[in-house]
Amino acid sequence: MRGRFAHTSRRRIAGRKIGGLALCVLLVAGLAGGALHAQDLRFFRIGTGSTAGVNFSIGGLISSVVSNPPGSRPCDRGGSCGIPGLIAVAQATQGSADNAREVGRGRLDSGIIQADVAAQAYEGKGAFTGANRQTALRALTSLYPETLQVVVRRDAKITSIAGLKGKRVSIDTEGSGTQPLARNVLARAGLKPTDFKPTMVELGLAVDMMRNGQLDALFYVGGVPAPAIAQLAEVMPIELLPLPPAIFAALRKEEPAYLAMTILTGSYAGMTADVASLGIYSLWVANSKLSDDMAYNLLKALWHKSAQPMLANGHLAGRQMSLASALNGLTIPLHPGAARFYTEMGVLKNATAPAQPTAAKP
Ligand code: GLU
Repeated sequence: MRGRFAHTSRRRIAGRKIGGLALCVLLVAGLAGGALHAQDLRFFRIGTGSTAGVNFSIGGLISSVVSNPPGSRPCDRGGSCGIPGLIAVAQATQGSADNAREVGRGRLDSGIIQADVAAQAYEGKGAFTGANRQTALRALTSLYPETLQVVVRRDAKITSIAGLKGKRVSIDTEGSGTQPLARNVLARAGLKPTDFKPTMVELGLAVDMMRNGQLDALFYVGGVPAPAIAQLAEVMPIELLPLPPAIFAALRKEEPAYLAMTILTGSYAGMTADVASLGIYSLWVANSKLSDDMAYNLLKALWHKSAQPMLANGHLAGRQMSLASALNGLTIPLHPGAARFYTEMGVLKNATAPAQPTAAKP
């Protein structure tokens, strides 16, 4: 196993002129006092979303539990139980669509991708038609259900999604997974693209614009509570708009992986009632070219018993992540190394048929 990692790293380093990264690799290896060599180190990137989003934190938590850089405290003595020599890094990206494209093309090791976007990319639908189809995407695990959050300034007096007509609405960036869902929801609420004033910015900027009175509403598909939205709710009154049942039913018909979700009262300051919404699992996705052993070992580290408290303490979304729910809401085939891991763990019953997407549990 070590040999396979070593082989990959050597090729990567040899292919580089001695630049920043290679130099850093050599220095770190040197610091390890010769016990580890450059070929024992491997970097592994996890594409997330905007730094203001929950997935950037979740990606950071996953990185900590799967990494095990030289010199780490040993696993059995309260240290890292990650993959020896691995340094995983959470990388800020535009979000799901960007991650699907980059992972699919082999330019990013892995990414956190909404299951609906993963399905579109894998099946060649939506923004992924023709040459943009990404058939190399393979699921490592399901993470947690993300929630559609439509936030409005209370003083804008908007009470429904249809009421966003004529308003200034942030629908997130083009590479996000929020934008296609936001557009779909708005269209089903009867709003044509010209019926509202779209702003395409990431969550952090959208929150700033809300605070400055430059926006009336923002869409975000992600964990609850999102710290950026929680901070906004602390400084100005906000409301969350409910998703009408008819729109939910229509969306669910189109994508069975959508879940009925409720944003509970108290999730954000000032909320006075539960809000009906929609959920979609976020998946940790890699390329089919990732070695089976690497996929297997990433999951062994992620679902190691020592990792659970770290995930749970990092963010509420981390508490919803578990081996028991690792196959929930998958919309693309499992990576074979992942299928092997889940079969050994007894959570996947039939390893010969991992290529079949499993239906979402409502
Ligand atoms: N699901 C969001 C997207 O792909 C990102 C969520 C986050 O950054 O936490 O657009």
